[in-house]
Amino acid sequence: MPLSSSMPVTARPPASARPPLHLADLEPGERRAAAEHLGQQGFRADQLARHYFARLTDDPGDMTDVPADARDALAAALLPRLLTAEQQLGCDQGQTRKTLWRALDGSYVESVLMRYPGRVTMCVSSQAGCGMACPFCATGQAGLTRNLSAAEIVAQVVAGARALARGEIAGGPGRVSNVVFMGMGEPLANYSRVLAAVRRITDPVPDGLGISRRAVTISTVGLVPAIGRLSGEGLPVRLAVSLHAPDDALRDQLVPVNKRWPVARVLDAAWGYAEATGRRVSVEYALIRGVNDQAWRADALADLLAGHLAHVNLIPLNPTPGSKWTASEPGVMREFEGRLAVRGIPVTVRDTRGRQIDGACGQLAAAGRGVKAG
Ligand code: SAH
Repeated sequence: MPLSSSMPVTARPPASARPPLHLADLEPGERRAAAEHLGQQGFRADQLARHYFARLTDDPGDMTDVPADARDALAAALLPRLLTAEQQLGCDQGQTRKTLWRALDGSYVESVLMRYPGRVTMCVSSQAGCGMACPFCATGQAGLTRNLSAAEIVAQVVAGARALARGEIAGGPGRVSNVVFMGMGEPLANYSRVLAAVRRITDPVPDGLGISRRAVTISTVGLVPAIGRLSGEGLPVRLAVSLHAPDDALRDQLVPVNKRWPVARVLDAAWGYAEATGRRVSVEYALIRGVNDQAWRADALADLLAGHLAHVNLIPLNPTPGSKWTASEPGVMREFEGRLAVRGIPVTVRDTRGRQIDGACGQLAAAGRGVKAG
């Protein structure tokens, strides 16, 4: 059963709704200052960070190294529960798990954990809703509710890490190895909080979760100034650019922000990123039957990418409920892939993990936000 039919309709929270501050919003120095502000010693914040990032707990009952009379106050002030799991759906023999989260203001977001041989990827949301209005994307239909805080983003990863550590995911106890910002929202439209979240996710334990910076992917519709800014961060995260069309005429429709920053400018920014970081840019291309999957578009894409540090990720479209569009035919996909490959462009077809639970990244259900599906 789709999530949609069982989920409540949620009123849009007031624009001012802001999640409470959390330890994961703060740099280590700021955390200590926050503990002192509460009348506690600064190092208590480090203890809390160790509980949260290393032991993956925010339960004051677990914090036996913190004096009993300080525990509750510290945890209440620095480790508020920002997200409540409203629904969990599993598939792929328990190796994929999607969680629908309710934030304190009633906003819904989703994350997906995907276990593969040798790695576990967490796909996280960076905003409740999205303002980019891409017509093929479930999240794009309902508009932006609000930015997530850094701690709300980190909480999705911590929850996945905890589930893995506790052996709740098929395949035995494990760790999150990769984080992709391919859930709800446009991460570069929530720049500072996404960057803070990346720091928490990648800072060494116990200041953060200790996940490799190279194993973090930020996926964007192509907000050119923000890509430029990211290039200057000295942060070797992977950049993914959602291109979906090589020509402005079509991309203007599929990714409306293209009218502001067209293909050539987006790719220029992407090559700047590749140069600054030495990292291959991932070019995302959702194959939509009869829309963007023609052989001439594969050739045009190859022309754009040849000689650049790029890799193409072809994603069979995961149709949104009621959508007039569907995925390309398998033969057409193979042809598209082959035309890139023959030009020497590295190309892969993304697997369709979590499709049964509407959980392929970027296909996070509008359902929890109360948008009626189909
Ligand atoms: N806003 C960011 C990140 C979220 S979407 C971005 O656009 O890159 C993550 C990826 O999933 C993007 O490449 C997006 O275009 C793609 N996507 C969205 N809806 C999809 C669908 N219905 N089928 C296949 N891919 C989709």
